[in-house]
Order: sequence, then C-alpha cells, then structure tokens
Amino acid sequence: MKAIIKDKPGPGLVLKDVNKAKKLGPREVLVKIRRASICGTDVHIFKWDEWSQSRINPPLIVGHEMAGEVVEVGDAVTQVKVGDFVSAETHIPCEHCVQCKTGRMHVCKNLEILGVDRSGVFTEYAVIPETVLWKFSPEIPLDFASVMEPFGNAIHTALVTDLTGKKVLITGAGPIGLMAIQVAKASGASLVISSEVDPLRIEMAKNNGADIVINPIEQDLVKSIYTISPDGVDVLLEMSGNKKALEDGLKCLTMGGIASLLGIFGGNIDLNLDSLVIMRGITIYGITGRKMFETWKIADELLKSKKVDLSKVVTHVLPFEQWEKGFELMLNKQCGKVVLNFD
Ligand SMILES: [Zn+2]
Ligand SMILES: [Zn+2]
Repeated sequence: MKAIIKDKPGPGLVLKDVNKAKKLGPREVLVKIRRASICGTDVHIFKWDEWSQSRINPPLIVGHEMAGEVVEVGDAVTQVKVGDFVSAETHIPCEHCVQCKTGRMHVCKNLEILGVDRSGVFTEYAVIPETVLWKFSPEIPLDFASVMEPFGNAIHTALVTDLTGKKVLITGAGPIGLMAIQVAKASGASLVISSEVDPLRIEMAKNNGADIVINPIEQDLVKSIYTISPDGVDVLLEMSGNKKALEDGLKCLTMGGIASLLGIFGGNIDLNLDSLVIMRGITIYGITGRKMFETWKIADELLKSKKVDLSKVVTHVLPFEQWEKGFELMLNKQCGKVVLNFD
C-alpha cells in the first residue's frame, strides 16, 4: 500500500510502497482511509524543525486527521464493526494512569499521538486502537469528518466557559481560529472579534462570521478593543502562538476575564504576570487535545445540525496523489484546511 513517510531525518516527506499491517492486536482496528487532512503538526514534521527532531523517529507514516471505514477488527474489539465510518481521536491514552482512571484521558501521562509517536494515517490502511475511534453521524460529509479532530480543538478551547452573551476575542485565524469563530457564534457570544495579520485569513475570518476583524499590524489591538468595548472582552481564545498576540489579548480582557490558550509558542516567553494576570483576577486555561469524548459529541452535533459549516474552512480537497501540492499550500499558508481524498 502507498504511504506518505518521513523515511529519514531531514526535511521533506516521500510517497512509498509499504507493507500492509500484519496481524491486528486484540483491540486494534484496520481502517481504510477515505480522507485525511494536513495539520500544522504534519508541516512541522515536513520541515523537520527542532520539535520534530526531538520527537520523531523515522521511518514513520505521518498524518493523524482522518475519516475512513472499518475493514477488519481485532478479536476483542466490541465498539466498532466492519463497515462503520469512523474518525479518530489522535491522542491515544494508556487507560491505566491516574488521569485516565479519573475521566481525564485527554491529559493521560503516557499519551501517544498518531503519526507522531506511532504509525499515522497518510496511507491506504491504518491500524488504530478501538478506544480512540469515533463513529460519526452519517449526515456528516467525509471531507468534514476528517477535520473533526482540529474542530475538536476549537470546541475544547472555546467552551471552557459559557459564551452566551459574552464578548470574545480570538487571536489568530488559522483553520482552528476560524472554526472557533463559528463555535463562539453558535454558542451565543454577543460579539466575536478576530485578530489576524494575513490578508487571506482576514477575509476567511469575516466569511466565518467574525463580527469584527482587526489587523494588529495596521491598528493597535488593545486600543481598538477598548474603543469597541470600554470594558474589554470577557473571553480570550489564543490561537496564534504569538507572544504579542497573547500579551495584547490579556490586556484586552475585562477584570476577572477568562483566557483559553491553544496556540503553541515554541519556547519561553516573557510576560508580566503581576499586571496582566494576577492583579486583574484572570483565569487561564491551557488546552491540549479534546475531551474524550465529550468534545467529540459536541463536534458531531454541531456538524450534523449544520450549526457549524466547515465548507468555509476546508478550502481544498485534493486527490491523495497531489499531496505535495497540499503541503505546498500549507507551507505558504494559501489555504484553510487541506483534505486529501484517498478514494
Ligand atoms: Zn491535527
Ligand atoms: Zn493514561
């Protein structure tokens, strides 16, 4: 079978023929991949940046976001059967650490990530443990089912608090920031403001329903926010991983406001916690992954009911063979979500 592989340390990926899985483990499932989407993580692995050098052990089949069909199940599998359509939680919990045992599998101590710590999904058939499979509703198109994992990040980040009647600032309008705009609107936020510097993404933020989009290169973000809302915003969703965006975002929060952080900063950053957080009674949440499976249930319902429309985020669906074009689009940020079609 064909697979997109990091075959050796260094930049780039290759398409190769590899052997299909041997025998399945008792709780493993063989999934025929129908769609897979390219994530920022895959781009990091493609570029072979510092993080990937420290984490990835080539050779490795990359990719983790997918939608597919169950074609074979291990002897002890009970949760899915052949013919089921599934997406996957890509964080594989150990199921025995204290977090897993107390209903917090998303912060499992021994977490393994698909396409990072173990063989991924940019291939024709992938082996996935039954624990992490999600049978999505049949109303959800395959192209969108593949994006449920990052969509779950948007949901998990946005819904740390009740957004009904709240003013929300979302810093960064990459695919997850765009999805968060729709989630905040669907949740009854009274005002959703997006901050973004890239012209294409500014347009997409508007198209995804942001009430106001601010380009912090052209306009001072903090001044603009306090002009729009003299009390600041109630909730900050940080999706950029940019230090200035976080610092200004915190300044935009009203006293006692809530910040939910998803963006990755890639190293130490300097912030005055005294004035930005402590003296202003700010609550900060760090977000990793998705709650298993509360977030997935919400993702499924929002897509099934069309409260969220991912056609405004998925800009490209390419045949699998054109994966290099997909990565190029991602590298140049000339896209929203890029989905590869394996059919
Ligand atoms: Zn991802
Ligand atoms: Zn665990």
